[in-house]
Amino acid sequence: MKVDVLIIGAGVSGSAIARELAKTKADVLVMEKESDVCSQTSKANSGIVHAGYDAKPNTLKAKLNVKGNAMMKKLSEELSFDYAQIGSLVLCFEEEGRKTIRALFDQGQANGVVGLEIWEKEQILAHEPNVNCDVVCALYAPSAGIVCPFGLNIALAENAADNGVCFHFDEPVASIRKTEDGWLVNGAYETKYIVNAAGVYADQVHQLVFKDSFTITPRKGQYFLLDHEAKDLTSTVLFQLPTKLGKGVLVTPTVHENILIGPTAEDIENKEDTTTSQDGLEQIRRKAFRTLSDIPYDHVITSFSGLRAVSDRNDFIIERCGKGWIDVAGIESPGLTSAPAIGEMVAQMIVEDLSLKPDPDYLPFRQGFSSCRKLSPEQWNALIEKDPAYGVIVCRCETITEGEIKEACSRSIPATSVDGIKRRVRPGMGKCQGGFCLPKVMDILQKANRVSADQIRKANPGSEYIVAENKEGI
Ligand SMILES: Cc1cc2nc3c(=O)[nH]c(=O)nc-3n(C[C@H](O)[C@H](O)[C@H](O)COP(=O)(O)OP(=O)(O)OC[C@H]3O[C@@H](n4cnc5c(N)ncnc54)[C@H](O)[C@@H]3O)c2cc1C
Repeated sequence: MKVDVLIIGAGVSGSAIARELAKTKADVLVMEKESDVCSQTSKANSGIVHAGYDAKPNTLKAKLNVKGNAMMKKLSEELSFDYAQIGSLVLCFEEEGRKTIRALFDQGQANGVVGLEIWEKEQILAHEPNVNCDVVCALYAPSAGIVCPFGLNIALAENAADNGVCFHFDEPVASIRKTEDGWLVNGAYETKYIVNAAGVYADQVHQLVFKDSFTITPRKGQYFLLDHEAKDLTSTVLFQLPTKLGKGVLVTPTVHENILIGPTAEDIENKEDTTTSQDGLEQIRRKAFRTLSDIPYDHVITSFSGLRAVSDRNDFIIERCGKGWIDVAGIESPGLTSAPAIGEMVAQMIVEDLSLKPDPDYLPFRQGFSSCRKLSPEQWNALIEKDPAYGVIVCRCETITEGEIKEACSRSIPATSVDGIKRRVRPGMGKCQGGFCLPKVMDILQKANRVSADQIRKANPGSEYIVAENKEGI
């Protein structure tokens, strides 16, 4: 296969770049080692659209954060994913923290963040009455928001695919050789240009070709997720003062009316270690107590962790390396927020290098999933008239119908696993975490993909649910 641009990684960075390149006449291939888009860091994070006061002025992080934040609303309308601009507060509980709040305010101003204000205790408690009354002051950022991380990543990738970008899954890039006019990847793919957007593996992908390098250290962040009953805890993203390792423990609503609490910040070696630990979760409880002293942990429905790709350069690495190669590495937080701006920046570099022409047939819009629970009874009935599967509730916790699950299996990037379905339309995201709906989801997947029950997987190959007909076969 011969392409103009080969992107390694279908996380939010690779997918945003793919969507921008879909606006040109380039032939683009995205190669992903996992079985689906949004399978590593982009699936396990806080889902915050940061305002942009955290990063040092003039860094790529600062510029792309503020730009990505400004792009998010229009993008959510074009691509139909869940996003809400709910504002954030950085809470300060000690008088001596005031100078840090002031420094963040000044840094935000320098970065071009709009609308920042410093609030005193009374204003904070009037806005968020559950905040611990020890609070002294806070930095309020009205431009901050929340986004569905899966929704954003999947929407970008689907729109790229709708416009002709090719995605290959279960294909780790393991070898890259320089050729006369480009690169040969895995001995089978010829390309003029490579974009290395391999997340925590970006250093290893870079080293397949280049000696000089950067390092990427995975920094684990663990979380608690609380069910809808806890949704009134806060309507604003609540941060504490940042630490050397990051933005500290936050409490935030999600776009699906859950409450998310975390993350920890632990440097680790294993790039696949997304376990949670009692110690890590205890740390979150201890730290979050400062923000809200009455968190109902009996509403916890799951815990999980994600890995930040922390580089040794302390900024995003977005740079050309020789002819026909761009590294998009060290994309730690605020990478999700910055993704739309990263996509634009990288695509622009490639457009210049390959003199790419715009594609006049490019379609910027993508239709979202039907999301029956958000419809009026009339709209829902109209859908049922078209397909009675929209009248069959499969996931009772999140009110998801068979029709929505079937939709997820028939898109330009179809869901092929239970996790793929879950990230697209949410069965299994609720209180029972799939306890009730899993067999039904497996059945729908089986029929949609015309495969046998023992081929239905949670995610990657090896995660099949059914391994034998009875226990004697195990
Ligand atoms: C705990 C935590 C909290 C965060 N919170 C926020 C937040 O609130 N707001 C925010 O803006 N950002 C946040 N971030 C950062 C954000 O999640 C990341 O910046 C973003 O998801 C990075 O996306 P990516 O595409 O660069 O990496 P990834 O999503 O990791 O994608 C890289 C892809 O490359 C694939 N790959 C790797 N090696 C190969 C190979 N050899 N061949 C083929 N494919 C390969 C991987 O499988 C993966 O799918 C957070 C991150 C963490 C961990």
